[in-house]
Amino acid sequence: MLDGNESFFSNVAPNSIALNVSMVAASPIASRPVAQDARLTDSHGRVIHDLRVSVTDRCNYKCVYCRTGEVGAQYPELEIGEYLRLIRLFVDLGITKVRLTGGEPLLRHGLIDLVRELTGLRTVTGEPLDIAITTNGHLLDTLAAPLKAAGLNRVTVSMDAVDAPTFERITRIAGSFATVLGGIRAARAAGLTPLKINCVLLRGFNDEQVEGFAHFARAEDVVVRFIEFMPLEEGRLWTPEIVVPLREIVERIGRVLPLVELAPREPSETARRYGFADGRGEIGIIAPVTQAFCGACSRLRLTSDGKIRTCLFSQVEHDLYGRLRSGASDEELREYIFRTVQSKEARHHIGEPGFLKPSRSMVHIGG
Ligand code: SAM
Repeated sequence: MLDGNESFFSNVAPNSIALNVSMVAASPIASRPVAQDARLTDSHGRVIHDLRVSVTDRCNYKCVYCRTGEVGAQYPELEIGEYLRLIRLFVDLGITKVRLTGGEPLLRHGLIDLVRELTGLRTVTGEPLDIAITTNGHLLDTLAAPLKAAGLNRVTVSMDAVDAPTFERITRIAGSFATVLGGIRAARAAGLTPLKINCVLLRGFNDEQVEGFAHFARAEDVVVRFIEFMPLEEGRLWTPEIVVPLREIVERIGRVLPLVELAPREPSETARRYGFADGRGEIGIIAPVTQAFCGACSRLRLTSDGKIRTCLFSQVEHDLYGRLRSGASDEELREYIFRTVQSKEARHHIGEPGFLKPSRSMVHIGG
């Protein structure tokens, strides 16, 4: 078992332009009444209907491309009832999908209660919410069935290799491959389907897993989605060269199992979908670096300590929880959310000169 990143990334140059800037939006956003039927639409005309909520920034894995292994949890967690109060306000403003994440959300005490309470909320058109969780799967074996019973719709499991030694070099947890595989199977048995597996590929590190993942998708009846590596790690690993681009993944899988491109299910879908030509299974590719989809972004994030982030790469956070703590009414919080969305960034600037690394890394934002 290795205890540092160096040996994996010895040939990767540090990102010399990355900076850590931590800012919370200082001046209060002007408060004006927001109409009862107001919906979240940003100043670029994008409708916001997807909320990601981090319920902890603790994690039981130390994936080498995500965490240095030297830093633990950094931010406080809210009470479950406080997340619920805030989520309800977002739902009143048009959110239809809520994804619980972290850190590792399955570590969070009270998660099942939160899911159960969320199932009682209704969207502005009276529908149940679409409730999903992103997890490393380590605790799914025992939690899949209770989460399903509480009303969870779907789960996405992160998995960066299909062979046990590579997987465990990444997570730095012995026995994790068998545990996660057990969790995936438990999730499928519980009916948390369609089951998605998210895989981050890094050149020269785990990119040889691509073809194996295609076979895995079919054998385990899961949709594998490859995600391009973004500069959101705790360390300094990211370079353009380490990113395995969409085009290469499609070409390599197509050589062993022919693919056909599938139409997006909705305009804001982040993954490009490909079906296997024989009709058995599909994969997806999320390409924020080489084929950015910011123009169709429909997302907002709420961090474990209750800050709104309007983009993964925001330099500024908006302290919603601070307002709650100082006694703001639901109406005032609703107005604050509404105004904050107006400042959502047009796009990220990955790979451009002067790019600034965001103030938090992925594990502390909520992936
Ligand atoms: N612990 C949960 C999990 O493992 O899914 C949720 C949090 S984790 C930060 C969410 C996702 O972000 C994982 O799929 C992880 O692989 C991905 N991720 C982490 N760092 C990333 C980066 N720099 N670029 C792209 N994806 C990243």
